[in-house]
Amino acid sequence: MSAKPFQVNDLAAHHASTAPRRELVEDTGNKRQAQKAKREVDAGDFHLARVSDCTDAMRSVALFYFLPRLGLSLVSEIQFRSDVTVELVRASANDADVLFAARVSTQGEQTLESAKSSDADTAKRDKGLINYLMRDRHGSPFEHNSLTFYVQAPIFVFREFMRHRIASYNEESGRYRELRPVFYVPGPERKLIQVGKPGHYEFQDGTAEQTALVEQETMAVTRAAYEAYQRMLEAGVAREVARIVLPLNIYSSMYVTMNSRSLMNFLSLRTQREGTHFPSFPQREIEMVAEKMEEFWAELMPLTYESFNANGRVAP
Ligand SMILES: Cc1cc2nc3c(=O)[nH]c(=O)nc-3n(C[C@H](O)[C@H](O)[C@H](O)COP(=O)(O)OP(=O)(O)OC[C@H]3O[C@@H](n4cnc5c(N)ncnc54)[C@H](O)[C@@H]3O)c2cc1C
Repeated sequence: MSAKPFQVNDLAAHHASTAPRRELVEDTGNKRQAQKAKREVDAGDFHLARVSDCTDAMRSVALFYFLPRLGLSLVSEIQFRSDVTVELVRASANDADVLFAARVSTQGEQTLESAKSSDADTAKRDKGLINYLMRDRHGSPFEHNSLTFYVQAPIFVFREFMRHRIASYNEESGRYRELRPVFYVPGPERKLIQVGKPGHYEFQDGTAEQTALVEQETMAVTRAAYEAYQRMLEAGVAREVARIVLPLNIYSSMYVTMNSRSLMNFLSLRTQREGTHFPSFPQREIEMVAEKMEEFWAELMPLTYESFNANGRVAP
């Protein structure tokens, strides 16, 4: 490893406020300069520092010598998010797929194009047919399509998501790569108080104190856990062992592929809407993912989507 003077480069701090503000404190050189950086950090009421852009040896020096003595901790670029990412990667899905599959029962072989009609009368019939299939739960015509989503969400969402067996999944590995320090913290709009009985919970806003407490505790535990993860990796422990200390709010990413029938089953259970025949009470964070998936699907299959809603959001 090339010898370079010790550099605490890019020493960054997160402000301990409800809306975390990140500022950079540049420092180059030695312990004295690092202490100067710490004074600046303290003056700004910061409580965390990170060190990046150092060689492994420098990180070790920083981790095991300077930073503990300065009351700082090594955290490589921890990022807190309160949202989820959903992208539609690929789709072969439209209402004509449903009509095509349904009409083979009565009309035999035909082209996909001819299955969907363009004039007003037949358009009305198309809508009627989809509605009939949905209402009477003739579900198989809704299977001849495919939607692939890329999802980034906290791992506790994935744990619930993957209970939906009628889908295909591929998720990033914590064995083959070092997990990125991206963690979920509930946003200020997240309702915190649970009332009602099991299975029918309702959620109400928390107080300002509760909101601040959730944020502070979540961030503190996250930082401590990620530092422990880093210390084990630094010491040569395998990723699959080191990761066991990471909390459920760490983000993961996956591809998930569903057809519209399995998507409807998923949406019926993981969204909460007025007027559904069988109301569900999902955890808000999986609902955030479901809502984004639903938006993409609604664009692709408007007749099916309309019919799903008109029939109480029951999966056919
Ligand atoms: C609000 C909420 C709370 C929940 N709480 C809990 C909980 O406390 N504990 C817990 O363990 N789970 C819980 N779950 C998960 C739940 O029990 C289901 O596992 C999850 O919703 C997936 O539903 P699914 O089986 O219909 O989906 P999929 O697995 O996608 O299956 C879709 C449909 O295929 C059919 N199917 C699939 N596999 C089989 C099979 N082996 N045999 C027969 N039919 C099959 C069924 O008709 C099923 O509805 C909860 C779910 C929700 C929405």
